[in-house]
Amino acid sequence: MIVKQPLKQSLIPTGRFAPSPSGRMHLGNVFTAVLSWLSVRSRGGRWILRIEDLDPQRSKAEHARRIEDDLLWLGLDWDEGGLDDRGEHGPYSQSRRLQLYEAAFERLVAQGLVYNCRCRRADIMATQAPHQSDGRIVYAGTCRPQAAPPFGTSVKSGVAARLYVPDCTIDFTDEIYGPQSVEPARHCGDFVLRRADGAWAYQLAVVVDDALMGVTEVMRGSDLLLSSAQQIYLYRLLGYEPPVFAHVPLVCNGAGVRLSKRDEGVSMEDLRRRYTPAELLGLIARMAGLAPDASPKTLAQLKVLYDKELMPHDDTIGI
Ligand code: GLU
Repeated sequence: MIVKQPLKQSLIPTGRFAPSPSGRMHLGNVFTAVLSWLSVRSRGGRWILRIEDLDPQRSKAEHARRIEDDLLWLGLDWDEGGLDDRGEHGPYSQSRRLQLYEAAFERLVAQGLVYNCRCRRADIMATQAPHQSDGRIVYAGTCRPQAAPPFGTSVKSGVAARLYVPDCTIDFTDEIYGPQSVEPARHCGDFVLRRADGAWAYQLAVVVDDALMGVTEVMRGSDLLLSSAQQIYLYRLLGYEPPVFAHVPLVCNGAGVRLSKRDEGVSMEDLRRRYTPAELLGLIARMAGLAPDASPKTLAQLKVLYDKELMPHDDTIGI
């Protein structure tokens, strides 16, 4: 398969923001968006807006429109992507990229690394090791064929398709959190590429999209830090060069719990009522360690102040 990745582009820092249009953005989402934008714009780079609407039940075009409007209100502009599919690597909504995921999936099937999994969620939960208290699911390998891969290439629809994950360690250096050493077999085990209902898994889609869109830097919330190892494994299998990963702390509410779209006062609707764009940027600058206080800032000022070394390294940060 031809990789649509012009060589010239890989020299230009290219970041992306990849929101799921399942509701209005909150301060945590916007924190990530601003920092991702600053990280590439401060180096003269490009920024892509990709709509991660793989989940048809939760995704709505009206939310995507709101996300665009909120980004533009802050002054965050994108070179490629968005609902009008500007740019040459489109479409930029995952729901319209399904053939690309299928093609990558077929390549993994052809390598004999994919097997059918009939486990239901309840079965998987029942076989969890007792220490998985953080809600992560580590698949115990119930449906994995006895013989080592290559497996057969007859993947069925109507059941999930899982990718074989060998015992190995994946080392990478996160731009914010530093060196990481992850054993994906312990972190997640064999993971789903295509769900029983036919939906493509985030892990596959994100790798295909970032690779084919020429993304050189993936900046996102620290909840996805360890899943970068799964993604690097996929990059290798698909013959793509992984981007640089840079995770930012998750923003927490007063009770120290990660913000969700249900938290009061932190949705973009509330924030736009309470703050001007410069005031909100000032708050974000303080949270990111770019300024000692939350005095109003412009994006032009923040481009100069931006320094990833100043970012707090905790898993979470308060407002
Ligand atoms: N769509 C994901 C989210 O909204 C982001 C995934 C990513 O940045 O890799 O949380």
